Amino acid sequence: MVDEEEASMKYRFTESEAPLGRDLYVLETGKWRTERPCVDAEACVLCGICALYCPTGVIDVGDDVVSIDLQFCKGCMICVRECPREAIEPVPEEGSGA
Ligand code: SF4
Ligand code: SF4
Repeated sequence: MVDEEEASMKYRFTESEAPLGRDLYVLETGKWRTERPCVDAEACVLCGICALYCPTGVIDVGDDVVSIDLQFCKGCMICVRECPREAIEPVPEEGSGA
């Protein structure tokens, strides 16, 4: 029996979309995080380097703002280390003990 949380992470595709298996499980990697990356909009110059290095591809650099999809950001803090402007700060998640 599949529980509710597992079912919410399960996506079903047609055989032509996913010939090796129609059930795809998508991990909500945001639940792994103990810290979240917070961008200082004043310091950010929208260079896009953080987005290039993010291993989960969750950073979107727009015309005037950087946004991070926290549902899937796993909190690795690579973006914090790679930002040349030190514009991203790690902030502990509530209740994480970090
Ligand atoms: S690397 Fe830093 S300065 Fe460049 S877009 Fe990301 S947050 Fe902004
Ligand atoms: S903490 Fe890691 S996963 Fe999250 S936005 Fe930064 S580089 Fe990407």
